[in-house]
Amino acid sequence: MSAFALANFGGYDRPTLAQNESAFPPSPMAIEAGRNAVARSHLYPDPDWTLLRDAIARAYGVERDLILCGAGSMELIACTIASFAGPGADVLGTNYAYNFAASAAARVGAAYVKAPERGYEVSIDAVLAAVTPATRIVFVCNPGNPTGTRIPNAELLRLRAALPGDVLLMIDQAYGEFDDQDPQAIFALAGRGDTVVLRTLSKAYGLAGARVGWGLFPPQVAAEVRKMQNSNQVSTVSLAMAVAAVEDQAYMRATVMRTADIRDRFAQGLRAAGYEVPQSRTNFALVRFADATAAASADMALRGADIIARSLAGYGLTDCLRITVGQQDVMDRALRVLTAMRGRQSW
Ligand SMILES: *Cc1c(COP(=O)(O)O)cnc(C)c1O
Repeated sequence: MSAFALANFGGYDRPTLAQNESAFPPSPMAIEAGRNAVARSHLYPDPDWTLLRDAIARAYGVERDLILCGAGSMELIACTIASFAGPGADVLGTNYAYNFAASAAARVGAAYVKAPERGYEVSIDAVLAAVTPATRIVFVCNPGNPTGTRIPNAELLRLRAALPGDVLLMIDQAYGEFDDQDPQAIFALAGRGDTVVLRTLSKAYGLAGARVGWGLFPPQVAAEVRKMQNSNQVSTVSLAMAVAAVEDQAYMRATVMRTADIRDRFAQGLRAAGYEVPQSRTNFALVRFADATAAASADMALRGADIIARSLAGYGLTDCLRITVGQQDVMDRALRVLTAMRGRQSW
């Protein structure tokens, strides 16, 4: 059974650390706004997401006219790939880039090519070396999922400058709020006409269940993507929650700091026990075990303690688990289980 099914049908008290959901609920203002919006549910939502675009433009210092919103950023990823890729028009990702892009490419019959990474980090040189005349889209995650590592902004700028102008660069920043790099230079790339930058409210804002994502799209790209979107796809309640959440930057910042704090203590504990844990810039940690067998027994041991981690066999990372940052007591329990396990092994 999938981690999702286990978590949802096995009882809500079972903490799922497999989906990178926030350990904390959304802002109280977002909850209140959602409650109030329920009574307006007889009306269709604003198909142009006007108030949300205004709120995002103010909070992020970006041009409101470049913003598109989606039912999660997955919708924006899928619609962008469907607009520009297809048979003979390839999508180039990286070895450990978020697998959903590969599914979205498969859906439209586009080849999805993976450039190798260096350890757990994206190598811009490897991405550039993998570009062919068939490449239509380059998809990179920064920070990355499932690695948690980040690409320095200067490297992303170098990538864009070196890519052919007819290759659309998609920069997925689902965890951007957890990264302390100034995002303005990356946001500004959308002004070039050949680059899309994606964000979501699912992670730092704790609104995974509301399904709201957004991105900066050059006008010619936006026109194509909008043809692929269903109108009215972000519900009235979700829009109301998203506006209030974006307006409550202080709550989001505090949540990100609390999450990073728990994450870093968890990672340090694991490193002290002898595990390899790359520095994460997200709300999860990638933990490397001796081999696939050790990772599988760790997964079992965690399940025995009612903790569900994400195995990464789908990424070829059979010796790793991805563990989302949960509440402090849950992470303490996970650390105890993994430390005890490490003590029984000789590697
Ligand atoms: C979680 C995640 C998303 C998006 O999810 P939505 O909930 O659809 O906004 C996108 N990209 C990456 C890398 C993610 O981890």
